[in-house]
Amino acid sequence: MQSWPGPPIPKLPGRGLPLRLFDSATGQVRPTAPGATARMYVCGITPYDATHLGHAATYLAFDLVNRVWRDGGHEVHFVENVTDIDDPLLERAVRDHDDWMVLGMRETALFREDMTALRIVPPRDYIGAVESIDEAVALIVALLDSGTAYRLDDGSGDVYYDVTRAERFGYESGLSTETMLTLFAERGGDPDRAGKRNRLDPHLWRGARPDEPSWESPVGRGRPGWHIECTAIALNRLGMAIDVQGGGSDLLFPHHEMSAAHAESVTGDWPFARHYVHAGMIGLDGAKMSKSRGNLVFVSRLRGDKVDPMAIRTALLAGHYREDRPWTAGLLDQAQSRLATWREAVALDAGPDARALLDDVRRQLADDLDTVNALSTVDRWATEALHRGGRDADAPRLVQDIVDALLGISLS
Ligand code: ZN
Repeated sequence: MQSWPGPPIPKLPGRGLPLRLFDSATGQVRPTAPGATARMYVCGITPYDATHLGHAATYLAFDLVNRVWRDGGHEVHFVENVTDIDDPLLERAVRDHDDWMVLGMRETALFREDMTALRIVPPRDYIGAVESIDEAVALIVALLDSGTAYRLDDGSGDVYYDVTRAERFGYESGLSTETMLTLFAERGGDPDRAGKRNRLDPHLWRGARPDEPSWESPVGRGRPGWHIECTAIALNRLGMAIDVQGGGSDLLFPHHEMSAAHAESVTGDWPFARHYVHAGMIGLDGAKMSKSRGNLVFVSRLRGDKVDPMAIRTALLAGHYREDRPWTAGLLDQAQSRLATWREAVALDAGPDARALLDDVRRQLADDLDTVNALSTVDRWATEALHRGGRDADAPRLVQDIVDALLGISLS
């Protein structure tokens, strides 16, 4: 799958600090400890609708992880998927009398444009579900061979994963079985499907149905489930014990729990990821922004209204990535005025020394991506530069580079 063009990243003097991130599995902010190449997998979109601000906030959070690691001297192998075949996509295509493949391609193209406009560093591997079906099938075959997966005997051709075979099942989310069952039912699971061994067992393979796309494979004709898709794409490119498995907080369960369990069952190794990192949800008018509520603000719509993508980026970074937070018109106004101030300040011939600012922003971002304080640090320098001036002729350029490299905000 084609990715999108990467923004240039200025090189900063010195080196950034090791990144500490909140890990959902342990409930703690812990240091990430990547090798020379940091490995990150972030779950991508199901392309049946345009990128809304909730998506944007999630990809921005992991973009900062990427940037902080690079500033710390690491290469970053970042992998993202696009779930270009799944029930929600097919349902939307049927509803709108659209072709599922055309719908998926159209929305994926729009997603690339949005990511480019928001200056998200692209993944090295951007992989579609359809192009990786063989990879998912290979894992399903292995799970069937070991008895960890089973076929329903109702003629559907469906294959399920037996969660009781996962030794540490539940470690990623830490949820009670009751909560798991509620979330499983809400988020695409089928706890009451007859013939399953356990109510929480997720499907690995959906046997072919009339009027649904399907592919020939060694496990029969059909299509893979979502969790095993991510497992296969991640495992084949990044291996086990990846540094970060990321996504929105609505992926905590079942998606990330199941993908991890699948990977651990296939390899007999543990853990799938050393950090499970989740971004908060963006709300509108007091409710989580979601397709079912219809209260979505689309990045492409804002761009169409001539909103500066850097203002969208700045507005989303004004809140902490883990917090559920509202989107308001006031937030965008504040971001626009903040950007105007920063741009005015970096256009000066000289300003106050900015080396302390670099240290502060590095320290703040290394502390679980504290963008709230990092933005305030830049505010203070800009205010001082504009009101009291400064003698350092290199400072405005350095600040522009810091804001660009670490926060991804272009002031030019
Ligand atoms: Zn995923």
